[in-house]
This record gives sequence, structure tokens and C-alpha cells, in this order.
Amino acid sequence: MDRRDFIKAGLTAAGTVAGAALVGGGIMALSGARKPKPAELREFTRGKFKLRFYPYELQLAHSFTVSSYSRTTTPGVQLELEYGGVTGYGEASMPQYLGHSVGSVCDFLSRIDLSAFNDPFCSEDILDYVDSLSEGDGPAKAAFDIALHDLLGKLVGQPLYRLWGYNPSKAGATSFTIGIDTPQVVREKTLECADRFRILKIKVGLDSDEQMIRTIREITDLPLVVDANQGWKDRYKALDEIFWLHEQGVQMVEQPMAVDALDDIAWISERSPVPIFADEACQVLRDIPRLKGAYHGVNIKLMKSGGLREARRMISYARAEGMKVMLGCMTETSCACTAVAQLSPAADFCDIDGNLLITNDLFEGMVVRDGLMVLPEGAGLGLRKL
Ligand code: MG
Repeated sequence: MDRRDFIKAGLTAAGTVAGAALVGGGIMALSGARKPKPAELREFTRGKFKLRFYPYELQLAHSFTVSSYSRTTTPGVQLELEYGGVTGYGEASMPQYLGHSVGSVCDFLSRIDLSAFNDPFCSEDILDYVDSLSEGDGPAKAAFDIALHDLLGKLVGQPLYRLWGYNPSKAGATSFTIGIDTPQVVREKTLECADRFRILKIKVGLDSDEQMIRTIREITDLPLVVDANQGWKDRYKALDEIFWLHEQGVQMVEQPMAVDALDDIAWISERSPVPIFADEACQVLRDIPRLKGAYHGVNIKLMKSGGLREARRMISYARAEGMKVMLGCMTETSCACTAVAQLSPAADFCDIDGNLLITNDLFEGMVVRDGLMVLPEGAGLGLRKL
């Protein structure tokens, strides 16, 4: 049993070949521009498993504004889990509001010791163990969970959606998100995406909401969903706005008011002409029981849930309670987006566009054709490294 501490790659500009050999070759496929900086790659061997991970900052194509903040990059961590010469890919993405960082994710991943596990197919035991390492750390747990599922799919030679019994032809449409911006930028973004998608998601929650929707409606009559990101402060005004949005072709509303305004949200949901979904209010399965009755549905994201296992449990629970299911993502590469898309045949709404919002994707995986998600046929997540 090998319990080495960090082996830092020690890649240097002059010693790339030697450095790549040192880390076992898993990172060598990265193109020059994407190589992790020296000392940022960490590799462990724990029993029969090898873990490699490194920070990877996601570059946004457009600065992204929601009702509470604006940003141009998202910190992330890429993970590789190797067993028997087969590598599964995983990813953590850490948007500001979740309170995680590259440091916290790397610290968590470096605590994972798989030396007690010999069989990757005992995934319940392995994921229970990883889950037990801390209370939160959703993105770090998601990175590991995604990589383990990718690995298992590859070991049996089947895509995950097949192992779970989902029909890939039911993957359906994904919305494409337009952030809060000036009318000119909103117009440009809408023109860019209107003929490529079948549904658009609009960020609202500021005084500019009506103008945003009117600008979009000058260009397209596509169905819309809106996300207020807790931005509305008054239940009466929020409900008025929802009725107006409904007239504008809006099909659902995400997180209309603050997470702790549960009574206000229940009041809105009772009267709303469109379903109301929880996003920030719903992180993991144990959040859903208290949301029942206050929201019509939940938006499940791997970075919140800590991965695919919990996401599947959340779908089952929500369905059992008669709630609707939405799948979402953060700004992510095609790794995590393709992972959550494996579940898309089981969802009512999908908002899986994180990989389309960045300029430095590392993978080809799920793609959107004519507005519909097409799941890759390859084993596991079916990713192809770019
Ligand atoms: Mg949201």
C-alpha cells in the first residue's frame, strides 16, 4: 500500500518531457496552452487507484451578470481517477456564491485515501466514504463522483445513460442562458443564439427585467424560462411580474425570492400560472422535504449535490413527491456538463449550457444540435479530450 504524500509534477518549461513522465503520462495529452502550471498538478497513488488533479480556470466568452454579481472567469479543478490503466474524468467548478475555492477543493481531494478499496464497482462504499470526509464540499465530491462513474462506464464499456436505462433520444432540449446586460448586448446575444436553441433562459431580478424581455421578444418568439436568482424582494410585485412574464411566453421561474423567504415563495407558487423551481434553496437530497409545497420543482446541479449518485436520488425523491425536475450546471467544461446530461431523459427542463459559455473547453462530449442535446455514444461519459 502506497501512501505517498503529494507528488508534485515539477514540470518546468525546460523539463516538460521529464515532468510529464514523472506524472505517469495522464496529463501529457494536454495541449501547450492548457498545461497546468508547475507544482499545481498533484498525483497520489492510493492502493489500486491513482488520483491526479490540477486547477483549471474557465474563461467565459462573455462577462456574466446575475442579480447579485458579475464575473469573467470561474475557478475550476480537473480530476483524473485511474484504475487498472483506465482513466475516468471529473471536474469541480466553483462559482462565487457556493463559497468554495481551488484551495478547498484540492485540500478535500488530497484527503481521499482509497487504499481500503479494491473494487471500483463497490461504488456505494467508496462514495459513502468520500461523502463522510466532510459536511459540504459539493464541487470536490462532484469531481470525484463524476470521475468514478466515468471510470465504471469505461470498465464495462457502456455509456452511463445505458447502464441507468435512459433512452438517449429523450435527452431533449437545453435552454441557453442570457445574463443581465444592456439592451444592446442582450440583443447581440439573442441574435447569436436564437436559431441554435429551442428555449432560452433569461436572468432577471433587477429593475431591467421588463426591458430585457422586450428586447428579446423583438428578436425571437422562442419559449423562455427565467431565473431571478433570489432577486425579487416583494411577493406581490414578484407575482405581478410572473403573470406578465407568463404572457410573454415564459414557462417557468427559478428561485424568485431569497432562500429563506419560504413562506413568500409558497404564496407565489400557490398563485403562479407557471411552475416555480428551487435552485439556490436546493443543494442536496435532504433539502427537498422542506421545499415540498413551497416550490413545484427543483433544479439539480452536480456541483451542489456532490455528484451523479446524489442527483439520481434527488430525481427519485422529487418524483415520488410529485415535484418537477430541472437539471442545471455551473460554468463547466464538457466533462461535468456531459455528466449531468446523462440524466437528461429523466428531467422536465434542462439548462446544460455551461460548456457553451466558455472559450477553453477541454473535452468534446454532449453537443447541442438543432437545440437538442446529443449524448455521446462512448463508454462512461463518452468524452474525447481536446
Ligand atoms: Mg438558477
